[in-house]
Amino acid sequence: MAGAVPDLTPADVAAMAARLRSAQPAWEALGARGRSTHLLRWLDWLLDNERRILTLVQQETGKSWADASMEMAVVIDVINYFTKHAEGFLADRKVKPAGPANSVRRLRVQVRPHQLVGLITPWNGPLAGPMMDVAGALVAGAAVLCKPSEVTPLAWSEAVRGWNEEIGAPPVLGCVTGGGAAGAAVVDQVDMVMFTGSVRTGRAIAVRCAERLIPCSLELGGKDAFIVLADADIERAAGAAVWGGMTNSGQACVGVERVYVESAVYDEFVALVTAKVKALRQGMDAPGSFACDIGAMVTAAQVAIVTDHVNDAVDKGARILCGGEPGTEGNFFEPTVLVDVDHSMTCMREETFGPTLAIMRVADAEEAIALANDSEYGLSSSLWTRDRGTADRLSRRIEAGSVSVNNALVATFQMPIPMGGWKNSGLGTRFGGANGVLKYCRQQSVVEERFSLKSEPLWYPVLPAKARLISRAARLLGAHDWRRRLGLRARR
Ligand code: NAD
Repeated sequence: MAGAVPDLTPADVAAMAARLRSAQPAWEALGARGRSTHLLRWLDWLLDNERRILTLVQQETGKSWADASMEMAVVIDVINYFTKHAEGFLADRKVKPAGPANSVRRLRVQVRPHQLVGLITPWNGPLAGPMMDVAGALVAGAAVLCKPSEVTPLAWSEAVRGWNEEIGAPPVLGCVTGGGAAGAAVVDQVDMVMFTGSVRTGRAIAVRCAERLIPCSLELGGKDAFIVLADADIERAAGAAVWGGMTNSGQACVGVERVYVESAVYDEFVALVTAKVKALRQGMDAPGSFACDIGAMVTAAQVAIVTDHVNDAVDKGARILCGGEPGTEGNFFEPTVLVDVDHSMTCMREETFGPTLAIMRVADAEEAIALANDSEYGLSSSLWTRDRGTADRLSRRIEAGSVSVNNALVATFQMPIPMGGWKNSGLGTRFGGANGVLKYCRQQSVVEERFSLKSEPLWYPVLPAKARLISRAARLLGAHDWRRRLGLRARR
């Protein structure tokens, strides 16, 4: 066993929340630059302990070393991006007043963090998952109560221990370990919730947040479509589909799940994909060895879901071109290509979250778009064509929070632009430049008077002559034609 963590009670969570709240004001007072210094020290420590922490990731997930290593790459990018830009993102914003009556005022928007942010994450990226959101929340000046998945709590608990015990950072980061009840206790303690996970849990959290009248941001499941048009670079598209479908053993919220290929290139595409999938080396390789392409699934329950989807597809007429079976030991599932699939099958409707690619032949782009949009999910998508005009036109018709054109997954990890799901895939967005920090803040509008007169035209008493003059002035300055400006048009 790689390690153990306590199953915290609601009372433990409340006590941790109180400690974080008492440390938060000093953290906020450090300013963006001071806070960034601690985050960069944390990054140094994480890099110095990379092998040990990624070994924990690998032990608790069964990932290949390459997939585990990707997590540190995300950590580096996220911390560097938010620390570099935090000061600018959090700066007061001066705004021009609207309307002539307000020209005597100075307008400013300033932000203050939510004091305590709750961050609840799933098991597919134990280190990168929480980091994608914790960096923005911490540089914003919030204290953060994190709750990693009960399935994979070890690497993140160690990362949080590093923050609290190794780098001299203020005690504004807490790690709640435990299951759903501990997660619910986090929601009950915090001022804002950032949740990543299943639609079912996301909905329950949204309900509880509504009861508490606190904001939440939800990154939920997906069933991402990958559309290949006849003019695409088919070799590149096949490589991207295989990587996008199999990376992290298919356990990526934005993984490629459904592939729609125009008839003219279907056979070529399927042949290329099948050859590439057959060539994948599956296993749990030694730390640092980078000897495998794909690892195991995180849980036996997830292997059972993937098995059900494949069996359901085969029962309804799909063909397996390679893979299709769980491994004989551990939580492996063979990298699988399914064809002759349709939307009556679970593998085309529900999130599989496994190393499968279900490929469907379509007549044309119209059919591909209609099928891509025939889903309760709308997280991300991928569109393949050499024609930029077609890409532009079709991307606007895809019902999903992002579109990678001539690539897979890349739209997700661009911190300057938002990542978020439409439909059942979420509420709100992560990243998105300043939004990645400001979402953890409350906005405060400040209006300052340039001149201080003894009285103002709108103040009491209401005098008929003064009131008429104000009303005429409003017309004169606001109407769009002279008859209305001068009040010559009949008033009803
Ligand atoms: P899950 O919803 O079962 O659990 C996620 C987290 O919520 C866990 O930490 C869990 O303990 C906690 N939790 C459970 N019940 C709770 C409650 N009532 N109140 C508060 N917290 C509670 O999800 P999972 O099975 O761990 O993860 C897989 C799902 O996550 C997939 O659907 C996947 O698509 C999704 N996901 C989405 C993204 C994204 O950014 N959109 C990223 C990764 C994973």
